Amino acid sequence: MSKTHFKRTKILATIGPSVRSEEKITELVMAGVNGCRLNFSHGTYEEHEEEIRWIRAAAEKKGRAVAILQDLQGPKIRLGTLKDNHLDVHAGDELILDSAVTEHDGSLILPIQYNLATKVKVNEPISLFDGKIRAKITEIVSETAIKIVLENDGFLMSKKGVNLPETDFGGDVLTEKDLNDIAFGAEHDFDYVAMSFVQSANDIIKLREIMKQHNYDAKVIAKIETQKAIETDKHLEEIVKVSDGIMVARNDMSAEAGNEVVPIVQRKLIAFCRRHSKFCIVASQMFMSMVENPEPTRAEVSDVANAVVQGADVVMLSDETTNGKFPIETVKQMKKVILYTQNHLPVSQISQDPSSENNNYDAIASAVVDLAERLDVDLIISQTGTGETSRILAAQRPDVPILSVTSDPHVANQLALIYGNTAFTRPYSVTYGIDLVKELKASGYLKVPEGKDELLAIIVSGNKDRIAGTDTIRIRHI
Ligand code: ATP
Ligand code: MG
Ligand code: MG
Repeated sequence: MSKTHFKRTKILATIGPSVRSEEKITELVMAGVNGCRLNFSHGTYEEHEEEIRWIRAAAEKKGRAVAILQDLQGPKIRLGTLKDNHLDVHAGDELILDSAVTEHDGSLILPIQYNLATKVKVNEPISLFDGKIRAKITEIVSETAIKIVLENDGFLMSKKGVNLPETDFGGDVLTEKDLNDIAFGAEHDFDYVAMSFVQSANDIIKLREIMKQHNYDAKVIAKIETQKAIETDKHLEEIVKVSDGIMVARNDMSAEAGNEVVPIVQRKLIAFCRRHSKFCIVASQMFMSMVENPEPTRAEVSDVANAVVQGADVVMLSDETTNGKFPIETVKQMKKVILYTQNHLPVSQISQDPSSENNNYDAIASAVVDLAERLDVDLIISQTGTGETSRILAAQRPDVPILSVTSDPHVANQLALIYGNTAFTRPYSVTYGIDLVKELKASGYLKVPEGKDELLAIIVSGNKDRIAGTDTIRIRHI
């Protein structure tokens, strides 16, 4: 592990048809994927079970922790299955969206998974295919069908998202399907669970209550994508505070609130997350053109580099790895951009929160990171039970790797998606601290870089009954 070859920003890949095998998932992990996202909008429980097994096997093979994330669909409205999975459409076309239609015959009468006729009003805007097709509602045709007129040309595919930014649904954010999926998730040992279409901090609090009933101890991610969630900065920051992390879900955000808001919300969210020691995923269309092409565009490279400089913990791949022709190549290219960027430009500064509730932790973490930079150490070794110490160190965005040592494999998997972290799992013992360095050397985690004969490390450890988790800071030549 050397400073310049260790990527501090992590890669999360969505699992879908292009990579649905143990071999492909192993290739993804070998190429640099740190976590896998299973989207519960798609696929069956049997398929997801299989995927979990493959991911755990791939992680084993690489000898590194890999996080698994359960993405709950939430009240996402989708088209049904289209004939041949494709329909060309044009500006001015009048489409009928009918929840009673079960089979599409190739006409402009389309199946939809939700009855909009009882919710929408004439003249409200609607968009299809994650905002690619814009339209207006012109008529409530029946108890189950509405008519819309399209404003631009394009094509549609099965199960693509439908957005109604001005429609009042006045309902719960967790659907019947989500509740079943949570029960499934609790049984299957997910490291993270992401909630879609979060509108307020309350939604996350509700999710936590339901998870608790199932003894589901995954970390909770709020997907930020509704107009409501981003209404004010204060509201947005409240959501960040009650979550363990957030996802900047740029596709639906752009469909709901307009594409011009997305870069600004992204910056704000990353800054809020860093300030509150929460973690942050930047998602959607990062290397979208690689679905078809072996190289990303200049704009896409820039997008990933910007997320790295802003200090995102994770950059995410969706279509690139689910439907793409070059899933493995996409990960390799992304890793290359991350490494070059981190090695040539420091993460941008943010203003710290003076009223932080974590003041003791923050004080120690910033001292450790300051020490690490001044002494030019090779790594920080963080002995952590819950992962909290490592998360707080990561919030300072040190430019040295944080090697977390924990006895809990679940914590190790979670840390796989935290900025600058990699985790080493070993059983808890009373002699915990004593043989650590010897064990780490044997494990291959510690490699002395060429031209050096030793590593300089800061080891932070502690006892959680004490002042702030971490109470011992040691500096060691290894
Ligand atoms: P979301 O809004 O939650 O991102 P999405 O439909 O955009 O939903 P992604 O997870 O971003 O879904 O994946 C992109 C596309 O990959 C999907 O629209 C779907 O076509 C395909 N896909 C993803 N997961 C699966 C799966 N498990 N099985 C089949 N197709 C999948
Ligand atoms: Mg979404
Ligand atoms: Mg998507």
